[in-house]
Amino acid sequence: MLYRKVPKTGDSLSILGFGCMRLPLTRAHTIDEERTIRLIRYAIDNGVNYLDTAPAYHLGRSEPLVGRALADGYREKVRIATKLPPWSVRTRNDMDHILEDQLVKLKTNHIDYYLLHSLAKESWDTMLHLGVLEFLDHAKRSGKIINAGFSFHGNLATFREIVDAYDWEFCQIQYNFLDELNQAGTEGLKYAASKRLAVMVMEPLRGGSLAGHVPVQVDKIWREAPVRRTPAEWGLRFVWDHPEVTVVLSGMNQEAQIVENITVAGEAGPGSLAPSELALIARVRDTYTSLMKVGCTGCGYCMPCPAGVNIPECFALYNGASMFGNRREYAFHYLTRHGGITGDRSYAGLCRNCGRCEKICPQHLPIPAGLKEVSTSMEGRTFGGKVAVLQCGLWIIDRAGRLVRIFSRKPNEGDTADQEKITS
Ligand code: SF4
Ligand code: SF4
Repeated sequence: MLYRKVPKTGDSLSILGFGCMRLPLTRAHTIDEERTIRLIRYAIDNGVNYLDTAPAYHLGRSEPLVGRALADGYREKVRIATKLPPWSVRTRNDMDHILEDQLVKLKTNHIDYYLLHSLAKESWDTMLHLGVLEFLDHAKRSGKIINAGFSFHGNLATFREIVDAYDWEFCQIQYNFLDELNQAGTEGLKYAASKRLAVMVMEPLRGGSLAGHVPVQVDKIWREAPVRRTPAEWGLRFVWDHPEVTVVLSGMNQEAQIVENITVAGEAGPGSLAPSELALIARVRDTYTSLMKVGCTGCGYCMPCPAGVNIPECFALYNGASMFGNRREYAFHYLTRHGGITGDRSYAGLCRNCGRCEKICPQHLPIPAGLKEVSTSMEGRTFGGKVAVLQCGLWIIDRAGRLVRIFSRKPNEGDTADQEKITS
């Protein structure tokens, strides 16, 4: 395992961090506790010393499970990172109560790395107004948190503003070879490092999309490489190649992943990719980009839309369906998130063609025309302001097929070899 130092403190962190947002599940879709604890302890025994969790993960079950996984002397071997959820905070006192609750759940007297969760412009302004900087100062003085940071999903201007607003030890950004110009992006990464912040990277494989369902055009390029690597290894190596990156978080929920990631984390130093390898990654990025239907970077400048359309999300899911090949899953997410099932209706078909967003978009995208495409493709013929019965039906059929396959399979079939490696 390689380690990198936190610039302001000298703390030595493993370049691979264990993300606890996508833990292994049982057939009943609850966390597989025994397997999770085995995976976490295997990672720690093999050099991982940074664990990232949050109250929001697994509907509140991730933090207590991490607390149990770190019994038997494991707590002393790792730094725990967890987060303050701005959406649960109404008053300054709420911040103290949430932190106290987290200390109990995690069975510890301090949090090593404490983040304000998923900041963007609006949530940052709200937290500032509620006195979050005084809270952080107070929590640090009391020893309940050691290092203060924030995770981020807004645009570059907001990122710079937050970096400059406090004496943070670290931040956490989404970064991978497709997101160099998205959110904080490469410029944000370099900016944070120039201010001596450690940078933890989340979504190095875009939630696994860069590792699974690889389009044939992309697969063809990977196969041209003189050194054979999995797409996941290429994706992780790209991020670790940046000296500004401190820790890369991977949501490891399979034995094979964890073995592979730990092996790569023993080799992937900064600047270790050859120019020819970086050129290969650039070709893969260009190929993914060419498969994108709409060149939206997700900057969010066009928001809010007066008709309620979530413009960047609609484009992101439309692009995802085109780039990563698992169209039904993207259609399902589109319908649940934007069709009014898990929140307000914000689907593309709501666009009234007022043209306001087009004037603001830095990419000069023809947004209403693009949304019309999204509407036709993702909403199906039966949408009409309700649920797209056609698309949902396809997804249900697909899931039913998978369930049949799962229930007709022997327990943990396919994982045996990797589990043996871990338990031996
Ligand atoms: S053109 Fe459509 S998406 Fe753009 S702001 Fe107007 S209603 Fe919203
Ligand atoms: S449509 Fe344009 S302004 Fe809106 S998020 Fe995408 S790139 Fe940014």
